Amino acid sequence: RSGAALTAQTPSTMRAANLPTVCRRYLNQDVRITRTGKPILTVSGGRSSLGGYTATVFGATGFLGRYIVNRLARSGCTVIIPYREEMAKRHLKVAGDLGRVVFLEMDLRNTQSIEESVRHSDIVYNLIGRDYPTKNFDLEDVHVHGTERIVEAVAKYDIDRFVHVSSHSASLDSPSEFYRTKARGEQVAREIYPETTIVRPAPMFGFEDRLLNRLAGATNIFTSNWMQEYLYPTHAIDVGMALEKMLHDDTTAAETFELYGPTGYTMAEINELVGAEIIKNRRHINVPKRLLKPIGAALNKYIWWPTISADEVEREFIDQAIDPKAKTYKDLGIEPVDLKSVLYDYLKGYRSPSYYDLPPMTEREKREEKKYLHVID
Ligand code: NDP
Repeated sequence: RSGAALTAQTPSTMRAANLPTVCRRYLNQDVRITRTGKPILTVSGGRSSLGGYTATVFGATGFLGRYIVNRLARSGCTVIIPYREEMAKRHLKVAGDLGRVVFLEMDLRNTQSIEESVRHSDIVYNLIGRDYPTKNFDLEDVHVHGTERIVEAVAKYDIDRFVHVSSHSASLDSPSEFYRTKARGEQVAREIYPETTIVRPAPMFGFEDRLLNRLAGATNIFTSNWMQEYLYPTHAIDVGMALEKMLHDDTTAAETFELYGPTGYTMAEINELVGAEIIKNRRHINVPKRLLKPIGAALNKYIWWPTISADEVEREFIDQAIDPKAKTYKDLGIEPVDLKSVLYDYLKGYRSPSYYDLPPMTEREKREEKKYLHVID
């Protein structure tokens, strides 16, 4: 039965005609209009909601990916996830109802696979990025040429919205290749698709991050700049929330957002906070840049798991830059979370087992005088 036929009837006439008493008013449905005038039907209904939008999320298998896929899929949007490794994508399947999360195999050099991933979508998110060069892809391949192929596909199929995740401190004349290629990527995206929304997240923290986990999980921490780089870390959940808001707010098209936390810290301060939370002493070894850079370059070249790269050493000497012209969380109505307020949640797994959260249960425990940190009353 078409929607028009149903709305033409009132509930009483439908009952009289023995028709099912379905009325638009009772369906709690809403129609949204996209930037190019396409009507999107949304119906809220828990896990079986209809979000109406189809979104492609490139780079969904990484750290940030799950925080946007989860939001889109649980609100009932169809989420297309281009992936390259079977095992890396499995956790995303359960983010939405049956059929909401669709996987497509993709290769960043295969234009056809990219076009197949975007052509049915209303919005495309590009989260693809790499901190270090790999055997098959250098930073330019990933951040510039990869972005170019994705944006060309977005422009070719006239997709409504394109959200490109770049990085804080992206600058064409940065000494770091990562920041330079990220800035080139932004430029390429805007040249081909001027309505691109650019998102520059600060270093992110969360369960799977490379900030707190790296500091808490190491026995020896090697750095070159005495941990003096200054950052405004941001919560991955806040960035996910911002990316979702961009879908529903078309005024964010063609804008640049810098998403950073409310407080600035040096890496040494973060390290101190981490140490106090996990109650463990880790050794900090400062190696001069002229030694650590070639070591990083060699390690990155010959071993195949992420360690340290020459460019990461270079980035230690660059403080996070804030662009005063860019929009922020405030423009999206989001109050960013401070690192200190959630440290315990993310780090409790690293805490030494010789400390206890509960008050002594037995006489023996009392006698042993263990150190109790959190007494839950
Ligand atoms: P991750 O490194 O966790 O994930 C990167 C994603 O990009 C993965 O899905 C990865 O796929 C994909 N990818 C990388 N290289 C390629 C390639 N050659 N071909 C296809 N896919 C590729 O990044 P995050 O989730 O932490 O970050 C998301 C974005 O935010 C990135 O662009 C990153 O540069 C940027 N950013 C992140 C910050 C942070 O603190 N985490 C700070 C500032 C910016 P696969 O799983 O198959 O490897």
